[in-house]
Amino acid sequence: MRPPIRFLGAGGAHDLQWGNSSALLEWEGRTFLLDCGFTVYPRLVEKQLIERVDAVCITHLHDDHIGSLSVFLYHRHFLSQLPPLPLIVGTPELYAKLHTILHFMMGEVERFARLVFPQEYAAFVQAIPTSRLHASHMPSCAYLFSSPAMHLLYSGDIAEPVPVLNDPAWLASHQPLWVFHDVAFRRTPSHCYYEALYPWLESTQLWGYHCDPAEAPRDNRIPLVHEVFFMGRER
Ligand SMILES: [Zn+2]
Repeated sequence: MRPPIRFLGAGGAHDLQWGNSSALLEWEGRTFLLDCGFTVYPRLVEKQLIERVDAVCITHLHDDHIGSLSVFLYHRHFLSQLPPLPLIVGTPELYAKLHTILHFMMGEVERFARLVFPQEYAAFVQAIPTSRLHASHMPSCAYLFSSPAMHLLYSGDIAEPVPVLNDPAWLASHQPLWVFHDVAFRRTPSHCYYEALYPWLESTQLWGYHCDPAEAPRDNRIPLVHEVFFMGRER
């Protein structure tokens, strides 16, 4: 059974033809938006999804992950007249920095959003801290969703495989495991080189995102979300 995830965008920060990496996940009766970069708000409007979202999980604070968060929150508040939207942040540092950004942009953050730790959504999701593994100054986290049917790990941007994948006991106790992982086809200090993910092709259902498939070398074995989980192109 495939997980109910649809990507609104699946590119890297500069792969505009694919949009910023972001996904909508229907999980146990709730709709989670994973990140809200600068191309995401127009997609949400186009797909009439603004009011569908129950909570947003924030992986980190780069523009391609939160760049349209404030305009999305304004839309929900002023046009849709919805109550403050829960924003799930996986670490205290992420909480503090996101609050500061939104405070500068929006003033009274609490009118528009409610920053919460994943513990409030423990029945659905937990955070896996990955701070400094994407950028040296950046708090970040991956998110693990669990249901009776499966587990789903969403990596966020990260320079190496999410460390918890290296723990065989953890891996064995989280099956079946679907992994949606940052993948890069050039070696960079901030994204995960595709070959580094090969060890998990057998033990998990692994899919790459945050890339342009046109840049994939012919020997790439990591399946990409673009033609299978991309909203409007699902198969
Ligand atoms: Zn990114």
